[in-house]
Amino acid sequence: MKLRKVSAAAATALVLALTATACGGDDGGDSNGSGSGGGNKIKIGIKYDQPGLGLKEPDGSFSGFDVDVATYVAKELGYKPDQIEWVETKSADRENALSRGDVKMIAATYSITDERKQKVDFAGPYLLAHQDLLVKKDSDITKATDLNEKKLCSVAGSTSAQNVKDDFAPKAQLTQRGGYSECLSALQSGAVDALTTDDSILAGYAAQDQYKGQFKLAGLKLSNENYGIGVKKGDTATLNKINTALEKMVSDGSWEKAVKENFGPANYKNEPAPKIGQIVQ
Ligand code: GLU
Repeated sequence: MKLRKVSAAAATALVLALTATACGGDDGGDSNGSGSGGGNKIKIGIKYDQPGLGLKEPDGSFSGFDVDVATYVAKELGYKPDQIEWVETKSADRENALSRGDVKMIAATYSITDERKQKVDFAGPYLLAHQDLLVKKDSDITKATDLNEKKLCSVAGSTSAQNVKDDFAPKAQLTQRGGYSECLSALQSGAVDALTTDDSILAGYAAQDQYKGQFKLAGLKLSNENYGIGVKKGDTATLNKINTALEKMVSDGSWEKAVKENFGPANYKNEPAPKIGQIVQ
């Protein structure tokens, strides 16, 4: 009996070893995600402070739609969840993190834009969001032009900050912070009058227990934000695999499930799954 147990354990160990060899590496030997030289890990960039999208929980685990999408994609690339190393990639750091090879891919509310496409490549899109405003419950800001002369917070390196300057509120007093949670604190303390970014992100903040009833979304669709998964420029092999994985995620129902689980609590009404390669301008 004892002997049989040992041999069963040995067989399990062997299977595990074989699985570990078979899984993981499929794309060269760089240190950000391959089996052949990188220790069977894949480094993926996400946000750490966006509930419902990319959040580092107090217990050190990660949650959100971007996390679920990236986990699914990683699985299709041959990496189990425990082979993923999550890396925080703030808005302004994303292109550099990919160019330097710090991470293999980025799923971090990362809008596909022509400017960014000069530096990185994008798989997807996998979600369509829209820029909106988050204001205090009693605020009289209801439209973008109300922002002129008002104090507005957004994040450096985001399309949200750029759109304000270029487009809908050039006279707003724009403060740019490193992350959206910093803007949220500024909004709560009254240091700014509004926070602007994607409605998907804002809905997550408004629904947080500690903020419930304090804020409202203006409900404006100020832009189309097509979320893509960023990869290093020229990494077509990974890009094609990610696109195949994203298509599968939609067709097998996992995309819809992830949407419900992550956006349901914030009551965020998401757009239907986008088609790969189709950008809504
Ligand atoms: N989706 C927009 C962007 O890529 C805003 C959100 C963000 O900063 O991640 O810039």
